Amino acid sequence: MTKSLIVLSAPSGAGKTTIAHAILDRHPAEVMFSVSATTRTQRPGERDAIDYYFVTRDKFNELIESGALIEHEEIFGNFYGTPSSEIARAQQMGKRLLFDIDVKGGISIRKKYPKESLLIFIAPPSMEILEARLRARKTETGETIQRRLQRAAMEMDMAKEYDHIVVNDDLERAILEVERIIGLESTGTPAP
Ligand code: ADP
Ligand code: 5GP
Repeated sequence: MTKSLIVLSAPSGAGKTTIAHAILDRHPAEVMFSVSATTRTQRPGERDAIDYYFVTRDKFNELIESGALIEHEEIFGNFYGTPSSEIARAQQMGKRLLFDIDVKGGISIRKKYPKESLLIFIAPPSMEILEARLRARKTETGETIQRRLQRAAMEMDMAKEYDHIVVNDDLERAILEVERIIGLESTGTPAP
């Protein structure tokens, strides 16, 4: 059975956003992105309501209280949550939904939708490479990089709960592996 809820999780910096964008670019008719709500500050290049719904802490509390979120977590001092409206939006469009959420969020999605969920963990080739990618991305300060690395150990530990683990060594190879797992093989030619 084709799984309609595809969860990609990984320690911050392992490359899941890059892989998620590649899957969405290559398969726009089949897959759409689940836009999460967050209280985190917008990064350069991020678009409101496309990458995240950027909301205040008060608004986020309202979403929790009104039952509008399927799951939510506090990560690095910010709140992140999946609006249930994303599932309805995907059903309306007849598309599968791709989640870029943390390991606890992924496990919550599977608990709520066990038959529909496919959980894929993106692992870095090593912790040293993870740190180098985080530094190269230049979106974090030294302190937040350290916090992200500490959390990475917990997340790597939870990878065994996932249905598949894909090591993001060579980016194109990792994308092809994810496409194979979700049953959307492409020719392997990178998008222009
Ligand atoms: P995440 O969403 O998991 O936090 P990103 O997708 O932002 O991670 O990737 C972190 C950084 O590593 C980005 O600068 C990205 O361009 C780079 N990157 C991703 N995959 C690879 C790869 N296979 N090899 C080298 N660099 C990569
Ligand atoms: P970032 O700040 O780097 O965009 O995301 C930090 C972490 O929050 C990542 O692991 C990301 O996958 C996770 N995340 C993003 N949205 C959600 C969500 O809706 N729920 C949960 N549980 N985690 C999320």
